[in-house]
Amino acid sequence: MQQKKVVVIGSGLGGLSTGVILAKNGYQVTVLEQGQQIGGCLQCFSRYGAKYETGMHFIGSVVPGQTLRKLMNYLELTADVPLSFLDQSGYDVVALQGEQFRFANGREPFIETMSSYFPRQRDTLARYFDLVSRVAGALRSTH
Ligand SMILES: Cc1cc2nc3c(=O)[nH]c(=O)nc-3n(C[C@H](O)[C@H](O)[C@H](O)COP(=O)(O)OP(=O)(O)OC[C@H]3O[C@@H](n4cnc5c(N)ncnc54)[C@H](O)[C@@H]3O)c2cc1C
Repeated sequence: MQQKKVVVIGSGLGGLSTGVILAKNGYQVTVLEQGQQIGGCLQCFSRYGAKYETGMHFIGSVVPGQTLRKLMNYLELTADVPLSFLDQSGYDVVALQGEQFRFANGREPFIETMSSYFPRQRDTLARYFDLVSRVAGALRSTH
């Protein structure tokens, strides 16, 4: 039987992942990219021995069982991409007007750390975290 042909426009994380998923399901896929190189926001460059990312610099949801880990397994990337934990007390740090805001890993550390910067927002931060967890949980249960 002749393979169905699909054109995916854009070679970012979304386009490349979609292309692989379609190819694994029997489609003949062509990914078109308007830029000079593939990857979209997944770009990095080196200057004087230092490496810089211009977009994505870490990924979440890759503990076994979590959503992105399942996608990595399906795309057969897990063995090729070494993973390690970032600083749990500040996996991301936003520096703004001389102040630093640390994003701590996990519900309680996140709420505690953020509340130390924004004490009046403690309840809102808890609601925000719980809402994000609910959305992520809903995504997990669809796989
Ligand atoms: C500065 C920055 C930091 C980030 N940091 C993180 C991070 O640390 N962790 C994380 O998880 N996420 C991070 N993100 C988000 C993450 O990079 C993006 O969500 C993800 O890469 C988006 O992938 P995408 O395929 O949807 O889009 P894109 O990566 O934007 O890819 C779209 C591609 O489509 C191409 N395209 C568009 N229109 C056409 C057309 N008409 N014809 C041909 N090609 C076309 C574009 O040139 C591009 O290559 C960051 C994003 C930015 C900008």
